[in-house]
Amino acid sequence: KPEVVIIGRPNVGKSTLFNRLVGKKLALVDDQPGVTRDRRMGDAVIAGMHFTVVDTAGWEDEDELSLPGRMRKQTEASLEGADAALFVVDARAGLTPLDEEIARYLREQSVPVVVVANKAEGAAAEGGVLEAYALGLGEPLAVSAEHGEGVADLFGGLWPIIGAKSEEWEEAQDAARAEAEAMDEEDRPSGPLKLAIVGRPNAGKSTLINRLLGEDRLLTGPEAGITRDSIAIDWEWTDPKTGETREIRLIDTAGMRKKRNVTEKLEKLSVADARRAVDFAEVVVLLLDATQGLEHQDLKIASLVLEEGRALMIAINKWDVAEDASKLFNGIRGALDEGLAQVKGLPLIAVSAKTGKGLDQMLAAAFELRESWSKRVPTSALNRWFDDALEANPPPAPGGKRIKLRYITQAGTRPPRFVIFGSRLDLLPKSYERYLVNGIRAKLGFDAVPVRVTLKSPK
Ligand code: GDP
Repeated sequence: KPEVVIIGRPNVGKSTLFNRLVGKKLALVDDQPGVTRDRRMGDAVIAGMHFTVVDTAGWEDEDELSLPGRMRKQTEASLEGADAALFVVDARAGLTPLDEEIARYLREQSVPVVVVANKAEGAAAEGGVLEAYALGLGEPLAVSAEHGEGVADLFGGLWPIIGAKSEEWEEAQDAARAEAEAMDEEDRPSGPLKLAIVGRPNAGKSTLINRLLGEDRLLTGPEAGITRDSIAIDWEWTDPKTGETREIRLIDTAGMRKKRNVTEKLEKLSVADARRAVDFAEVVVLLLDATQGLEHQDLKIASLVLEEGRALMIAINKWDVAEDASKLFNGIRGALDEGLAQVKGLPLIAVSAKTGKGLDQMLAAAFELRESWSKRVPTSALNRWFDDALEANPPPAPGGKRIKLRYITQAGTRPPRFVIFGSRLDLLPKSYERYLVNGIRAKLGFDAVPVRVTLKSPK
């Protein structure tokens, strides 16, 4: 956003002009010289042209002799970063040596200056306006900040200087707004949570589903794999914590399984079930059996779910009969983090399909997981993180060849997908790529979801 600084000797009406531009009584105005002491900033709009206006002050309380020196310091500071300066003089009082001193200084600076002959209401000020030509800073604009006259003329004076930058700013604003709106429409998860419960035979999937639905909808029993039918079950769950009622579509893959007798085959089938489940589900719950612990087969199912880019959480069932509970829990946590290194910190919850323990917590976590799985990070925030990450740990230069990483953008959601643009990307070590992926997950709120990153070199 362009920055316009108001400059001028004490009591010419700088604060009044500031207030007029900002449209609020932000600055303290008084007839006494020297009441303004601080630098204020405000958002100004003239005829649709946006800019930041800065009111300088602070040297007014000095005695006249030291004024030029103090003023120079203040002006110097305020001109830094400014795109334009409004140099205010008092058209009724006429030019003073201090005005000329300021003008001399401003003529040496590179910041474009617009001379404002203020207090120009009425005929008495006409001479003062003409006199302001003598400052050698171009045509003075006759303005009465107090009465709001001539302020629109400032548009004509400022537009050639800051118009382009103001438009650029507005376009960026529009783009950011559009991005936010698009995100609201496309990416906010809506509709019922599509949830699948997968796991090895006998983990308690059918019992869990029955418990959730509160009815004996599926057949359960001590033999493995006796459940059949039922594919998608819609139901409503009320979160006891928030009182909110939410829709869930449960995908029952166990029910899709044909009745078999051979347990060995069922082991394979649980993987096939999981594969089918991920086609439907947004969030997949891998159900473990507390009496069995985490086995190779479980990790295989978990990997499959993650490879398909679904949000995964783990529930340890039969907690009611678990022995040495905390040791068991920590053991499974450790084995998961080791076995699924690409997604450390998956949600892990102890439940009992039999008693209902932990089930509300499990569903609340599933909804939360869907949120981050569907989340879009604005490009600006993404690149702010990116710049910091590169600065904290710059990419290596193998064989003296510098790898350039320029820009990151989120290409999609569900699961979150990112593209990093740069050059010599083929030289980028996998470990550095992992550093970036871990950063995205930890710093941008994608902790427990699979995140995909692609590297791209522009042609
Ligand atoms: P599925 O093959 O994964 O669908 O497993 P089932 O739901 O058929 O359950 C297998 C066995 O575990 C049945 O005997 C259930 O009664 C038992 N079971 C399921 N959940 C629990 C639980 O939370 N606690 C206990 N103690 N037993 C459970």
